[in-house]
Amino acid sequence: MSMERRKNDKISRRQFLERTAMAGTAMVAASVATQGRPAARARGPLIKWDREADIVVIGAGATGLPAAIVAREAGANVIVVEANFDIGGHAITSGGNIPLGGGTSAQRKAGIKDSPDLLFQDLTDWSVVQPNGFPDYRYNDREIIRAFADNCAPAFEWLVAHGVIFTEGGPDTWGGTSVGNSVPREMHSAAMHWPTVQTGKPLDPAVQATTSSGNGLMRPLEAAARKAGVKILLEHRMTRIYREAPNAGRVLGIVAETRGAKLSIRAKSAVIIGTGGSTGNVNFRRMFDPRLTEEYCGLSGMPWSDQDGSGEIAAMAIGASLWGLYNQTGEFGTNITKPGTIGCQYNYCNLQWLPGSPVFNLARATGLRVADWQDLILVNMIGRRFYDECADQYTANNAGQIEPYVPGSYLNAKNMRYDPSNFINAALAGIGDGKNGGGPIWAIFDGDAVARERWISKPPSVDVDGGFFFAAQTIRELAARIVMKYQRVPMPPRNLEETVARYNAFVDEGEDRDFGKPAPKHKIARPPFYAAWATPVVHDTRAGLRINAKCQVQDMSGQVIPGLYCGGESAGGFSQHGLARAICQGIIAGRNAAAEKVM
Ligand SMILES: Cc1cc2nc3c(=O)[nH]c(=O)nc-3n(C[C@H](O)[C@H](O)[C@H](O)COP(=O)(O)OP(=O)(O)OC[C@H]3O[C@@H](n4cnc5c(N)ncnc54)[C@H](O)[C@@H]3O)c2cc1C
Repeated sequence: MSMERRKNDKISRRQFLERTAMAGTAMVAASVATQGRPAARARGPLIKWDREADIVVIGAGATGLPAAIVAREAGANVIVVEANFDIGGHAITSGGNIPLGGGTSAQRKAGIKDSPDLLFQDLTDWSVVQPNGFPDYRYNDREIIRAFADNCAPAFEWLVAHGVIFTEGGPDTWGGTSVGNSVPREMHSAAMHWPTVQTGKPLDPAVQATTSSGNGLMRPLEAAARKAGVKILLEHRMTRIYREAPNAGRVLGIVAETRGAKLSIRAKSAVIIGTGGSTGNVNFRRMFDPRLTEEYCGLSGMPWSDQDGSGEIAAMAIGASLWGLYNQTGEFGTNITKPGTIGCQYNYCNLQWLPGSPVFNLARATGLRVADWQDLILVNMIGRRFYDECADQYTANNAGQIEPYVPGSYLNAKNMRYDPSNFINAALAGIGDGKNGGGPIWAIFDGDAVARERWISKPPSVDVDGGFFFAAQTIRELAARIVMKYQRVPMPPRNLEETVARYNAFVDEGEDRDFGKPAPKHKIARPPFYAAWATPVVHDTRAGLRINAKCQVQDMSGQVIPGLYCGGESAGGFSQHGLARAICQGIIAGRNAAAEKVM
């Protein structure tokens, strides 16, 4: 069966044109007979197909590769198109912390009692709220969560069977956000021997089996996909999905652009979208949150791969609906994060690019990792502090956060001590000039801070040429030097002088009378003085295309768009950080797409 399908995978342009001509202009090229099967006929546009497969998967990330492997192993011919020069997506840059529960063999080995029902109950518990009052799970789509809960433990065993090695010691709670309060579920894929995308080198052999990394998830899956015969077309960016009529009929295939050429790739059974979300697309993300203007340019996972919303936009163009929009703006988890490094554009706390990385020419700097936020102040575009620099971003639920925990009890929220957790909101508040966006946030510090933190304040640690790092001998001069693309108004030097003088007085007094920073420790006094980019980072997409339990995409009437599937960050209805939902939904989509009739 599978060999038979493979023979039919690539057909010449001439064959296609000939067959299409025979079919007549009113008939789609999908009327081509498949070997061993009766020809299926469908109405639609005349398309000159360049390639074909039973299933076309868009994106070789945490959703796409599992989907492709499952479909291929079910006997389908599979083509994966990937926009990047390599597989992996955000998943390969990730920490490899994967919340897979519901009764895995690892949980049983560790004596942890979990089940699909407990997982479902956890991920739909209305009563779990964060200290700021935001609920993690209340707006999850029950149908989608039930499918996840039922497929979660099998997905873990599937990963193991496909070569993913997990570190000893799990499950624990490390790296999880919104993964359920009842029991630990977090597993960690071991980095092993593959060169990391962050450094271009493998880890020290002594720690390869004990360090969690997305590399240890995606390279084994790539190997499994290639071994199974999945065709992966790198540097092929999907730009359009074909449907028989603009808002009706089956999905027929896609357009992929590669090095200036456009290819039409026919999908005889289905197209699976695994394009990884939309937080890199300024206009798209601003539909959810108008504050997220252009200066939020340090999307985590970039410059390895983008989340440009292309999957969502292509699907919406043929009638798809969005879903679960609250999950994008709810103030929990990691949708928007405080930076972990400063002085560079790509400053997500868990991702540092080092020279040697294949994308270091794009990242341009490693950034300065902040060990102690007492070593600096943070100011907005006009040189004013806005919050306690030591405060953190939004929190999220994890096993044991609420104690005692009674599922669905009103006491879970009542017993939570209120803490507004407003660092991100203050940073995004702006300067009151009637414009959207908080503008750049700058870390201001002095020569003593550089010594305390042991920073190297020059390239490649910081991005001077890109305008993400400035130095000067006086505070006044420093403010005047801050000129870059996103600094839309000059920073008044006098403002910055006043801010620094006031903060230094707080250090003398031992009290931050403006923002309650606990006992401000260090004055900013010894030149040179520095301004380093410290603007918040956009990270997760948690709202996307409307899907059902089978991961079929639905339209504005709630009807399935035949032949179109989606999972991971491009799918909506499920508020959880990252990999587990992408992997599970990839598996679900691959399985159901492979069961579709070949047209
Ligand atoms: C630094 C970092 C650390 C993280 N750590 C963790 C963690 O420890 N645990 C966790 O659970 N989650 C983590 N995550 C989140 C997790 O990596 C993502 O949620 C997950 O990878 C999403 O899977 P996906 O398949 O939706 O997207 P991705 O894995 O990003 O894959 C999408 C793929 O689609 C490709 N693509 C996009 N558009 C197109 C197009 N038009 N045509 C063709 N290809 C396209 C992209 O290039 C990409 O390769 C982390 C993310 C980052 C950035």
